[in-house]
Amino acid sequence: MSDLNAFITEETIDGESDGPLSGKSVAVKDNISTKGLRTTCGSAMLEDYVPPYDATVVERLKDAGGSIAGKANMDEFGMGTTTETSAYGPTKNPVDESRVPGGSSGGSAAAVAAGEADLALGSDTGGSIRCPAAFCGVVGIKPTYGLVSRYGLVAYANSLEQIGPIAPTVEEAAELLDVVAGPDAHDGTTRDEGADSDYAGAADGDVDGLTIGVPTELVDGADEGVVDAFWDAISELEAQGATYEEVSLPSVDHAVQAYYVIAMSEASSNLARFDGVRYGKSGGYEGNWNESFASAREEGFGAEVKRRVLLGTYALSAGYHDKYYAKAQDARAWIKQDFDEAFADVDVLASPTMPVPPFELGESLDDPLQMYLADANTVPVNLANLPAISVPAGETEGLPVGLQLIGPKFGEEQIIRAASAVEQ
Ligand code: GLN
Repeated sequence: MSDLNAFITEETIDGESDGPLSGKSVAVKDNISTKGLRTTCGSAMLEDYVPPYDATVVERLKDAGGSIAGKANMDEFGMGTTTETSAYGPTKNPVDESRVPGGSSGGSAAAVAAGEADLALGSDTGGSIRCPAAFCGVVGIKPTYGLVSRYGLVAYANSLEQIGPIAPTVEEAAELLDVVAGPDAHDGTTRDEGADSDYAGAADGDVDGLTIGVPTELVDGADEGVVDAFWDAISELEAQGATYEEVSLPSVDHAVQAYYVIAMSEASSNLARFDGVRYGKSGGYEGNWNESFASAREEGFGAEVKRRVLLGTYALSAGYHDKYYAKAQDARAWIKQDFDEAFADVDVLASPTMPVPPFELGESLDDPLQMYLADANTVPVNLANLPAISVPAGETEGLPVGLQLIGPKFGEEQIIRAASAVEQ
């Protein structure tokens, strides 16, 4: 393997059956449980954690004959946009090693872009599949909430996240989605819709008659080079028979704020289990319970995780709940409604995946706000539980640009079809 640091654990597991993934190696993000294979979530807290069971998606990829290429590097517990908050060091972007690969599934995307794995699984709470796919010049799909089982995914913010595929091409990403999608008795939020879809078959590039909405709020404010590449891709789709119109989603201007309040609140509750007793390594402190928990968390968590647990706890606390958490839920409802209205008129929505090209390594670490704002185009999709794909669409200054296509609920086939047209 190269020195990209795409993997935290390089151990592999060979595929056993002749299914649709036989002969394919899959990098699995290190917050997805793999039986007998260390699963750290990019955290020192779980340095020695070896899950006793496979996540449903891992079971399905093994049943389909896929092999595991290793456990991919990630921002600690998925909290970040660059893979630099990993306790195991940052991953480099294979396109330009002075740049970040995006995050939080940066190891997954870098491994695919560099050919260190054929395919990858990532998770996307607020953009963590689409951002690294865009920054590394590969394809990533964030499925509709409920299409893919979260059983065995170590939770960051349950109401927002989904596991999804990263691959070199739209068709390969769709093939992996076909394998992992569908209801699961272990995850009560999974649904039957989409269970008998043929995602790979939808990658036929046929956009004749498709209407594309371009939300002005998600294009204005992006970097000039990104915007140019975006409009080139839209013109290409038009040339292939699609039409486009501008639409407005006024609520998305509040999406980053609402997302971070909700994500941090859910995280503060989810991460309470890491106390060095049942989960996580002990701080070795011999004092009372509180001191022992505190020392385990002080040593086991990095700075970004601590920031989020503190802010999330604050947002949920008596006296502040209505001011922050309840307000964020109102904004979330408004965002959902704006998307519903837009999809009454158009088939898919399009925007740049990321408003900026990949950061230099180290550039955004001391400025969390800059990092949070880079999620402006991806987080509305999670808040509305919709599907979206990022597909390579040219470059700016030699760096990849991703086009994001958003669909209505369980509209994966539509966005896969449109993305494959961009690719061709
Ligand atoms: N960058 C966002 C965050 O830090 C999204 C991360 C993710 O999707 N896991 O929360």
